[in-house]
Amino acid sequence: MKRVSILGSTGSIGQSTLSLIAGRPEEYDVVALTGGRNVELLARQAAETGAAIAVTSEPDLLGQLKDALPAGIEAAAGAEAIAEAAARPADWVMSAIVGAAGLAPGLAAIEAGTSLALANKETLVAAGPLVLSRAAASGATILPVDSEHSAIFQALRGEDPAAVERVIITASGGALRDWPLERLAEATPEEAGRHPNWAMGNRITVDSASMFNKALEVIEAKEFFGFAPERIEVLIHHESIVHALVGFVDGGVMAHLGPPDMRHAIGHALDWPDRRTLPVERLDLAKIGQLSFRPPDETRWPALRLARDVMARGGLTGAAFNAAKEAALDAFLARQVRFTDMAHIVETVLDEMDASGETSRRGEVSLGDVLDTDAAARARARGAATRLSQTV
Ligand code: NAD
Ligand code: MG
Repeated sequence: MKRVSILGSTGSIGQSTLSLIAGRPEEYDVVALTGGRNVELLARQAAETGAAIAVTSEPDLLGQLKDALPAGIEAAAGAEAIAEAAARPADWVMSAIVGAAGLAPGLAAIEAGTSLALANKETLVAAGPLVLSRAAASGATILPVDSEHSAIFQALRGEDPAAVERVIITASGGALRDWPLERLAEATPEEAGRHPNWAMGNRITVDSASMFNKALEVIEAKEFFGFAPERIEVLIHHESIVHALVGFVDGGVMAHLGPPDMRHAIGHALDWPDRRTLPVERLDLAKIGQLSFRPPDETRWPALRLARDVMARGGLTGAAFNAAKEAALDAFLARQVRFTDMAHIVETVLDEMDASGETSRRGEVSLGDVLDTDAAARARARGAATRLSQTV
């Protein structure tokens, strides 16, 4: 039996992970499931899988969770309880909490030496070197789950990383890709939250429209695979069939293709190093007929330019970038600022924190440093959002 835990089991990735596990119930022993406010669903998942413990991030909902759980399943609440659950003995942990809240529990699993399937890209953006050094120390394996990174991971199997010349990460362009530039400022959270191809959580869907998701992914690729920033390219590809391409020094390019269904990448990480049959739709190129590609327009998507600044500045800039982005997204979702204000807010925060020296750390970075930088960047971003909303 493979002992598995799922952090963020009530979300989009979490539910897809559970659906794969449900297809082979005799093979898995579910240890911990964690969620947020949706304790009814969390309790149902725990009951169905026979999990040992269910944890909500919300202490005020602990009573409700306990009431909803069958006898024999432990309940707990709060961020620390989630990290403790993540560190329980297991063979495989899925990191699928959204946002920087996923960092500490993922790190706890890694420090316990558990293989971590990483959907939470924020972990590597905010604390890549720290996370990788802890994994090297404990012997934990990190398996990428983001579809593009799973694609690169698969294209690199059996290859010498030194023979990689470039990496191309594709992007659908998100919900607003065909909007005239001058209308982007008026886009509502509902309009930005309708992804053309992927069914995902609301936050990553809006991040796809702003291309902040792709910006995070470029940084994630640099951190995880160690590619030089100038070797990472982004390509707009409306159909989301080609997930990434890896070009080698001999001119050969390996592309990874498949219908947009996260169960492939999740299942690949679950079965790794084996390949097993997965219940995903098979690719039918004759039916699709045509695939399109074009370069990204950085006037439309300034987040891509900001990603390069983050990689060039290094230090704690990734932590600041992610936190400022999260706070800017909060402000947009609350209708406090406009869609196009998000990039402006993030850029302002990065420039301020660079000028003050707050993000320009050299040498070892601790989890405390990352969390402090995260808090400082969020506060600055909230301030910038308030100022912007007052000038409207
Ligand atoms: P989601 O919003 O659907 O689910 C998020 C999960 O995290 C839920 O279980 C929620 O209860 C939990 N959560 C939210 N805030 C929390 C907090 N403060 N503390 C603890 N738990 C909290 O998100 P999702 O789309 O499943 O994405 C999860 C992660 O996977 C994100 O990092 C996202 O970028 C990444 N990812 C998602 C997809 C996708 O297809 N959905 C693809 C690639 C990467
Ligand atoms: Mg992705």
